Amino acid sequence: MATADIIDGKAIAEALRARIGGATAELASRHRVVPGLAVVLVGDDPASHVYVRNKGIATKKAGMRSIEHRLAADAREAEIVALVRRLNADDAVDGVLVQMPLPPQIDAHRVINEIDPAKDVDGLTEANAGRLLLGVKGLEPCTPQGSVILIKTIEKKLAGLHAVVIGRSILVGKPLSLMLLAENCTVTMAHSRTRDLAETCRSADILCAAVGKAALIKGDFVKSGAIVIDVGINRVGERLIGDVDFAGAAQRARAITPVPGGVGPMTIACLLKNTVLAAARRRGLPDPEI
Ligand code: NAP
Repeated sequence: MATADIIDGKAIAEALRARIGGATAELASRHRVVPGLAVVLVGDDPASHVYVRNKGIATKKAGMRSIEHRLAADAREAEIVALVRRLNADDAVDGVLVQMPLPPQIDAHRVINEIDPAKDVDGLTEANAGRLLLGVKGLEPCTPQGSVILIKTIEKKLAGLHAVVIGRSILVGKPLSLMLLAENCTVTMAHSRTRDLAETCRSADILCAAVGKAALIKGDFVKSGAIVIDVGINRVGERLIGDVDFAGAAQRARAITPVPGGVGPMTIACLLKNTVLAAARRRGLPDPEI
Protein backbone atom coordinates (compact mmCIF):
# COMPACT_ATOMS: atom_id res chain seq x y z
CA MET A 1 0.00 0.00 0.00
CA ALA A 2 1.13 3.55 -0.66
CA THR A 3 2.92 5.30 2.15
CA ALA A 4 3.05 9.07 2.55
CA ASP A 5 6.14 11.24 2.33
CA ILE A 6 7.16 12.34 5.79
CA ILE A 7 7.42 16.12 6.03
CA ASP A 8 10.67 16.65 7.93
CA GLY A 9 9.84 19.71 10.03
CA LYS A 10 13.15 19.48 11.85
CA ALA A 11 15.20 19.80 8.65
CA ILE A 12 12.90 22.46 7.16
CA ALA A 13 13.07 24.48 10.40
CA GLU A 14 16.86 24.17 10.47
CA ALA A 15 17.11 25.52 6.93
CA LEU A 16 14.75 28.38 7.85
CA ARG A 17 16.83 29.17 10.93
CA ALA A 18 19.98 29.29 8.80
CA ARG A 19 18.28 31.86 6.51
CA ILE A 20 17.17 33.85 9.58
CA GLY A 21 20.78 33.76 10.83
CA GLY A 22 21.86 35.21 7.47
CA ALA A 23 19.26 37.99 7.69
CA THR A 24 20.35 38.76 11.27
CA ALA A 25 24.00 38.96 10.23
CA GLU A 26 23.07 41.37 7.46
CA LEU A 27 21.06 43.59 9.82
CA ALA A 28 24.09 43.70 12.12
CA SER A 29 26.66 44.45 9.41
CA ARG A 30 24.61 46.94 7.38
CA HIS A 31 22.57 48.66 10.04
CA ARG A 32 24.29 47.79 13.35
CA VAL A 33 21.05 46.25 14.57
CA VAL A 34 21.09 43.12 16.73
CA PRO A 35 17.48 41.97 17.25
CA GLY A 36 16.51 41.29 20.86
CA LEU A 37 13.80 38.89 22.01
CA ALA A 38 12.45 39.24 25.56
CA VAL A 39 10.57 36.32 27.07
CA VAL A 40 8.49 36.69 30.22
CA LEU A 41 7.99 33.50 32.22
CA VAL A 42 5.63 33.50 35.18
CA GLY A 43 5.48 30.57 37.60
CA ASP A 44 6.97 27.09 37.75
CA ASP A 45 5.31 25.13 34.93
CA PRO A 46 8.07 22.64 34.00
CA ALA A 47 7.09 22.43 30.31
CA SER A 48 7.15 26.26 30.05
CA HIS A 49 10.64 26.34 31.57
CA VAL A 50 11.84 23.87 28.91
CA TYR A 51 10.20 25.91 26.10
CA VAL A 52 11.72 29.16 27.35
CA ARG A 53 15.19 27.61 27.68
CA ASN A 54 14.96 26.22 24.13
CA LYS A 55 13.77 29.57 22.78
CA GLY A 56 16.73 31.28 24.48
CA ILE A 57 19.22 28.85 22.94
CA ALA A 58 17.67 29.16 19.46
CA THR A 59 17.61 32.98 19.71
CA LYS A 60 21.33 33.20 20.50
CA LYS A 61 22.17 30.61 17.85
CA ALA A 62 20.46 32.83 15.26
CA GLY A 63 22.69 35.76 16.28
CA MET A 64 20.08 37.64 18.32
CA ARG A 65 20.01 38.75 21.93
CA SER A 66 17.89 36.72 24.31
CA ILE A 67 16.45 38.42 27.40
CA GLU A 68 14.59 36.41 30.03
CA HIS A 69 12.42 37.71 32.86
CA ARG A 70 11.18 35.22 35.44
CA LEU A 71 8.41 36.08 37.87
CA ALA A 72 7.05 34.05 40.78
CA ALA A 73 3.82 32.03 40.40
CA ASP A 74 2.06 34.44 42.77
CA ALA A 75 3.06 37.54 40.74
CA ARG A 76 0.32 40.15 40.50
CA GLU A 77 -1.15 41.12 37.13
CA ALA A 78 -0.05 44.73 37.67
CA GLU A 79 3.56 43.56 38.07
CA ILE A 80 3.48 41.64 34.76
CA VAL A 81 1.80 44.54 32.97
CA ALA A 82 4.45 46.94 34.33
CA LEU A 83 7.21 44.64 33.05
CA VAL A 84 5.60 44.38 29.59
CA ARG A 85 5.35 48.19 29.46
CA ARG A 86 9.04 48.51 30.36
CA LEU A 87 9.93 46.07 27.57
CA ASN A 88 7.70 48.00 25.15
CA ALA A 89 9.66 51.15 25.98
CA ASP A 90 13.08 49.50 25.77
CA ASP A 91 14.60 50.23 22.36
CA ALA A 92 16.97 47.25 22.62
CA VAL A 93 13.96 44.89 22.71
CA ASP A 94 12.35 44.04 19.36
CA GLY A 95 10.14 41.14 20.39
CA VAL A 96 8.14 40.57 23.59
CA LEU A 97 6.68 37.17 24.33
CA VAL A 98 4.71 36.21 27.43
CA GLN A 99 4.93 32.46 27.88
CA MET A 100 1.55 30.74 28.27
CA PRO A 101 -0.08 29.42 30.37
CA LEU A 102 -0.16 32.19 32.95
CA PRO A 103 -1.19 31.41 36.56
CA PRO A 104 -4.97 31.48 37.13
CA GLN A 105 -5.05 34.85 38.93
CA ILE A 106 -3.79 36.56 35.73
CA ASP A 107 -5.99 37.70 32.86
CA ALA A 108 -3.88 36.43 29.94
CA HIS A 109 -5.85 38.40 27.35
CA ARG A 110 -5.25 41.66 29.23
CA VAL A 111 -1.51 40.96 29.56
CA ILE A 112 -1.07 40.00 25.88
CA ASN A 113 -2.85 43.14 24.77
CA GLU A 114 -0.37 45.26 26.68
CA ILE A 115 2.37 44.14 24.26
CA ASP A 116 3.22 46.78 21.65
CA PRO A 117 1.83 45.26 18.39
CA ALA A 118 5.13 46.17 16.68
CA LYS A 119 6.91 43.84 19.17
CA ASP A 120 4.18 41.18 19.36
CA VAL A 121 6.24 38.33 17.88
CA ASP A 122 3.62 35.74 18.91
CA GLY A 123 1.07 37.64 16.79
CA LEU A 124 -1.60 37.30 19.46
CA THR A 125 -2.58 40.90 20.25
CA GLU A 126 -5.94 42.17 19.05
CA ALA A 127 -4.08 44.48 16.66
CA ASN A 128 -2.19 41.68 14.91
CA ALA A 129 -5.17 39.28 14.94
CA GLY A 130 -7.21 42.08 13.34
CA ARG A 131 -4.54 42.71 10.71
CA LEU A 132 -4.56 39.03 9.78
CA LEU A 133 -8.34 39.14 9.41
CA LEU A 134 -8.13 42.29 7.30
CA GLY A 135 -5.26 41.00 5.16
CA VAL A 136 -3.00 43.86 6.28
CA LYS A 137 0.72 43.29 6.97
CA GLY A 138 1.37 42.46 10.64
CA LEU A 139 3.09 39.83 12.76
CA GLU A 140 1.39 36.44 12.34
CA PRO A 141 1.16 33.63 14.92
CA CYS A 142 4.09 31.24 14.72
CA THR A 143 2.57 27.74 14.70
CA PRO A 144 0.12 28.46 11.86
CA GLN A 145 2.89 30.24 9.90
CA GLY A 146 5.07 27.16 10.30
CA SER A 147 2.21 24.88 9.23
CA VAL A 148 1.68 26.83 6.00
CA ILE A 149 5.41 26.72 5.23
CA LEU A 150 5.34 22.93 5.64
CA ILE A 151 2.30 22.57 3.37
CA LYS A 152 4.06 24.66 0.72
CA THR A 153 7.07 22.36 0.69
CA ILE A 154 4.68 19.78 -0.80
CA GLU A 155 2.34 21.97 -2.88
CA LYS A 156 3.43 25.47 -3.94
CA LYS A 157 0.06 26.70 -5.21
CA LEU A 158 -2.79 26.12 -2.80
CA ALA A 159 -5.50 28.05 -4.69
CA GLY A 160 -8.77 26.15 -4.93
CA LEU A 161 -7.72 23.30 -2.65
CA HIS A 162 -10.10 22.33 0.13
CA ALA A 163 -8.44 22.82 3.52
CA VAL A 164 -10.11 21.45 6.63
CA VAL A 165 -8.76 22.85 9.90
CA ILE A 166 -9.86 21.01 13.02
CA GLY A 167 -9.72 23.29 16.06
CA ARG A 168 -10.63 26.97 16.27
CA SER A 169 -8.30 28.33 18.94
CA ILE A 170 -6.92 31.86 18.78
CA LEU A 171 -3.42 30.36 18.91
CA VAL A 172 -3.69 27.88 16.03
CA GLY A 173 -7.00 26.97 14.37
CA LYS A 174 -8.43 30.42 13.61
CA PRO A 175 -5.23 32.06 12.34
CA LEU A 176 -4.33 28.95 10.33
CA SER A 177 -7.75 29.04 8.67
CA LEU A 178 -7.26 32.73 7.79
CA MET A 179 -3.78 32.09 6.37
CA LEU A 180 -5.07 29.24 4.21
CA LEU A 181 -7.93 31.47 3.06
CA ALA A 182 -5.34 34.10 2.13
CA GLU A 183 -3.70 31.36 0.01
CA ASN A 184 -7.07 31.03 -1.76
CA CYS A 185 -7.95 27.66 -0.28
CA THR A 186 -11.59 26.84 0.32
CA VAL A 187 -11.52 26.54 4.09
CA THR A 188 -13.71 24.53 6.45
CA MET A 189 -13.25 25.07 10.19
CA ALA A 190 -14.19 22.02 12.24
CA HIS A 191 -14.51 21.94 16.05
CA SER A 192 -16.05 20.03 18.92
CA ARG A 193 -19.61 20.66 17.66
CA THR A 194 -18.94 19.55 14.09
CA ARG A 195 -21.55 16.87 13.33
CA ASP A 196 -19.69 14.39 11.13
CA LEU A 197 -16.00 15.01 11.64
CA ALA A 198 -14.91 11.92 9.70
CA GLU A 199 -16.90 12.89 6.60
CA THR A 200 -15.77 16.53 6.84
CA CYS A 201 -12.14 15.41 7.01
CA ARG A 202 -12.55 13.04 4.05
CA SER A 203 -13.25 15.99 1.76
CA ALA A 204 -9.94 17.70 2.62
CA ASP A 205 -7.06 18.10 0.20
CA ILE A 206 -5.20 19.66 3.14
CA LEU A 207 -6.11 18.33 6.58
CA CYS A 208 -4.79 20.22 9.62
CA ALA A 209 -5.47 18.91 13.12
CA ALA A 210 -5.02 21.29 16.08
CA VAL A 211 -7.15 19.74 18.80
CA GLY A 212 -5.06 18.24 21.60
CA LYS A 213 -6.63 14.76 21.54
CA ALA A 214 -4.32 11.85 20.87
CA ALA A 215 -5.03 10.06 17.58
CA LEU A 216 -8.52 11.58 17.24
CA ILE A 217 -8.13 11.62 13.46
CA LYS A 218 -8.16 8.04 12.18
CA GLY A 219 -6.59 6.78 8.99
CA ASP A 220 -9.96 6.44 7.27
CA PHE A 221 -10.72 10.16 7.88
CA VAL A 222 -7.97 10.96 5.36
CA LYS A 223 -8.70 11.40 1.66
CA SER A 224 -6.32 9.53 -0.58
CA GLY A 225 -3.53 11.92 -1.63
CA ALA A 226 -4.21 14.54 1.04
CA ILE A 227 -1.54 16.61 2.82
CA VAL A 228 -1.86 16.04 6.58
CA ILE A 229 -0.50 18.55 9.11
CA ASP A 230 -0.63 17.34 12.69
CA VAL A 231 -0.26 20.25 15.11
CA GLY A 232 -1.33 18.30 18.19
CA ILE A 233 1.10 17.40 20.94
CA ASN A 234 -0.24 14.86 23.41
CA ARG A 235 1.74 13.11 26.12
CA VAL A 236 0.77 9.44 26.34
CA GLY A 237 2.94 7.75 28.97
CA GLU A 238 6.51 8.55 27.98
CA ARG A 239 5.63 9.28 24.35
CA LEU A 240 4.50 12.40 22.53
CA ILE A 241 1.88 11.71 19.90
CA GLY A 242 -0.19 13.87 17.62
CA ASP A 243 -3.90 14.31 16.99
CA VAL A 244 -3.65 12.05 13.94
CA ASP A 245 -3.27 8.27 13.91
CA PHE A 246 0.03 8.50 12.05
CA ALA A 247 0.34 4.91 10.83
CA GLY A 248 -3.24 4.81 9.50
CA ALA A 249 -3.11 8.26 7.91
CA ALA A 250 0.27 7.60 6.28
CA GLN A 251 -1.31 4.77 4.28
CA ARG A 252 -3.59 7.24 2.49
CA ALA A 253 -1.95 10.67 2.63
CA ARG A 254 0.42 12.06 0.04
CA ALA A 255 2.50 13.71 2.77
CA ILE A 256 2.23 13.92 6.55
CA THR A 257 4.02 15.61 9.45
CA PRO A 258 5.34 13.39 12.25
CA VAL A 259 4.97 14.20 15.97
CA PRO A 260 7.48 15.06 17.23
CA GLY A 261 9.62 16.54 14.44
CA GLY A 262 6.87 18.11 12.31
CA VAL A 263 5.16 21.37 13.19
CA GLY A 264 6.89 21.76 16.59
CA PRO A 265 10.34 22.83 15.34
CA MET A 266 8.72 25.30 12.91
CA THR A 267 7.12 27.26 15.76
CA ILE A 268 10.42 28.45 17.25
CA ALA A 269 11.86 29.12 13.77
CA CYS A 270 8.87 31.35 12.93
CA LEU A 271 9.24 33.14 16.27
CA LEU A 272 12.81 34.03 15.28
CA LYS A 273 11.58 35.11 11.86
CA ASN A 274 9.01 37.43 13.45
CA THR A 275 11.72 38.89 15.70
CA VAL A 276 13.93 39.76 12.70
CA LEU A 277 10.90 41.23 10.88
CA ALA A 278 9.95 43.27 13.96
CA ALA A 279 13.53 44.57 14.33
CA ALA A 280 13.60 45.71 10.69
CA ARG A 281 10.10 47.17 10.56
CA ARG A 282 10.49 49.13 13.81
CA ARG A 283 13.42 50.95 12.18
CA GLY A 284 11.63 51.55 8.89
CA LEU A 285 13.86 49.07 7.06
CA PRO A 286 12.49 46.75 4.35
CA ASP A 287 11.56 43.19 5.37
CA PRO A 288 14.74 41.06 5.22
CA GLU A 289 14.76 38.29 2.59
CA ILE A 290 14.20 35.06 4.49
P1 NAP B 1 -7.25 24.50 22.34
O1 NAP B 1 -7.22 25.96 22.59
O2 NAP B 1 -7.58 23.56 23.47
O3 NAP B 1 -8.29 24.24 21.16
C1 NAP B 1 -8.66 22.96 20.78
C2 NAP B 1 -9.67 23.02 19.68
O4 NAP B 1 -10.01 21.67 19.35
C3 NAP B 1 -10.97 23.73 20.06
O5 NAP B 1 -11.35 24.62 19.04
C4 NAP B 1 -11.99 22.60 20.21
O6 NAP B 1 -13.29 22.91 19.77
C5 NAP B 1 -11.44 21.55 19.26
N1 NAP B 1 -11.88 20.21 19.64
C6 NAP B 1 -11.85 19.64 20.87
N2 NAP B 1 -12.34 18.39 20.82
C7 NAP B 1 -12.70 18.16 19.54
C8 NAP B 1 -13.28 17.07 18.87
N3 NAP B 1 -13.58 15.93 19.52
N4 NAP B 1 -13.53 17.18 17.56
C9 NAP B 1 -13.20 18.32 16.88
N5 NAP B 1 -12.65 19.40 17.47
C10 NAP B 1 -12.39 19.32 18.79
O7 NAP B 1 -5.86 23.97 21.76
P2 NAP B 1 -4.70 24.72 20.90
O8 NAP B 1 -3.99 25.68 21.76
O9 NAP B 1 -5.26 25.17 19.60
O10 NAP B 1 -3.74 23.48 20.65
C11 NAP B 1 -4.16 22.35 19.93
C12 NAP B 1 -3.09 21.31 19.96
O11 NAP B 1 -1.94 21.81 19.30
C13 NAP B 1 -2.58 20.91 21.36
O12 NAP B 1 -2.25 19.54 21.36
C14 NAP B 1 -1.36 21.75 21.55
O13 NAP B 1 -0.44 21.15 22.46
C15 NAP B 1 -0.81 21.75 20.15
N6 NAP B 1 0.06 22.89 19.85
C16 NAP B 1 1.22 22.61 19.23
C17 NAP B 1 2.07 23.63 18.91
C18 NAP B 1 3.34 23.31 18.21
O14 NAP B 1 4.26 24.10 18.24
N7 NAP B 1 3.41 22.18 17.54
C19 NAP B 1 1.74 24.95 19.21
C20 NAP B 1 0.51 25.21 19.81
C21 NAP B 1 -0.33 24.17 20.12
P3 NAP B 1 -14.24 23.98 20.54
O15 NAP B 1 -13.73 25.32 20.13
O16 NAP B 1 -15.60 23.67 20.01
O17 NAP B 1 -14.08 23.71 22.01
